[in-house]
Amino acid sequence: MNITHLECALCGARHEADKLQNLCAVCGKPLFARYDLERAAQTLTRESLPTRRPDMWRYREVLPVEDDANVTTLGEGWTPLTGAPRLGARLGLSNLLIKDESINPTGSFKARGLCMAVSMAKELGATKLAIPSAGNAAGALAAYAARAGLEAFIFMPRDTPRACIIECLYTGAHVELIDGLITDCGAEVARRKESEGWFDVSTLKEPYRVEGKKTLGYELAEQLAWTLPDVVIYPTGGGTGLIGMWKAFDEMQALGWIDGKRPRMVSVQAAGCAPMVRAFEAGERFATEFPDAATTASGLRVPKAIGDFLILDAVRESKGTALAVSDDEMISAAREIGASEGLFVAPEGAACWAALGKLVAAGAVRRDETIVLFNTGAGVKYLESFDN
Ligand SMILES: *Cc1c(COP(=O)(O)O)cnc(C)c1O
Ligand SMILES: [Zn+2]
Repeated sequence: MNITHLECALCGARHEADKLQNLCAVCGKPLFARYDLERAAQTLTRESLPTRRPDMWRYREVLPVEDDANVTTLGEGWTPLTGAPRLGARLGLSNLLIKDESINPTGSFKARGLCMAVSMAKELGATKLAIPSAGNAAGALAAYAARAGLEAFIFMPRDTPRACIIECLYTGAHVELIDGLITDCGAEVARRKESEGWFDVSTLKEPYRVEGKKTLGYELAEQLAWTLPDVVIYPTGGGTGLIGMWKAFDEMQALGWIDGKRPRMVSVQAAGCAPMVRAFEAGERFATEFPDAATTASGLRVPKAIGDFLILDAVRESKGTALAVSDDEMISAAREIGASEGLFVAPEGAACWAALGKLVAAGAVRRDETIVLFNTGAGVKYLESFDN
């Protein structure tokens, strides 16, 4: 296909794309896939898209897998971008949209990233894949690894939502529960991966999960007839979706599909774990680890993110912002979204709506702007969060 090389997102060092790799060999930061976009554009045109398959593989020419035989799919992506008029009316908003990622395989947008990581790991010869996960990434890895015939080794905090643990057990993964946070799980993977022969698919510590998640950006543009919204509100853990969309916008501009106008990117975190919000407010490019991280939104319980500078750069460059909401605000927001629009959303998705209320109150968004909320997961995976 059209991938040419990997490039360090911080120092720019060039790496070969055709072998298993994690971080930049020079500075230890994430690697980005780079493509021959001129070549991709010979067949990937905006006009070619309407008749293509209704999943994320419709953007095949800007995805990294060489051989179609390695594409490991369960039907991920091409999710609805639905109008939310009744919800919007609560705040007097005339153009509110929800990108509903809950209908992905395994019930969250983690499917996009893990689909791509597993497809690439298969192509590059890995057989045992290891992951630290706050919940949904584990379920997605387990499912795609099973589909690809690879082994999955999963490390999750013991208090991860039950549904995420059980789905892994029922999709053939090896599961270890850790008394700690996702960072402790990551340390366990790092400690054992060499001797166990595992390939580490931690988010942004391997180059391809972000390639799956970038399809969110392509879909937004295609679904809005090659415009972008004014505001994107994104619940941020490791930040892979936000970083991926930001990369997709640049690629689409290079392809001549969109102009240089970008949405204001709003990073939403939980009050109990808000390292990006702290760094944003402090004017820092790299975030320090957030102590005693706690939130019911397990996807947001990421006290330290290796892609911190990429999140913060995109938020600042886009003139967006970062803000936190409490768990109680998430739970009430979920009820409002559900009652208004019939979507039973994950606490992470609900956090976006709670954040939007604050932004409107502060005058940070206009009521006639096109605003996209990301519902990144299905409420049914979080019964513990909602059941009291
Ligand atoms: C993982 C996750 C997030 C955060 O995604 P990142 O790409 O890590 O920022 C948000 N919502 C849900 C439901 C998740 O599973
Ligand atoms: Zn580097």
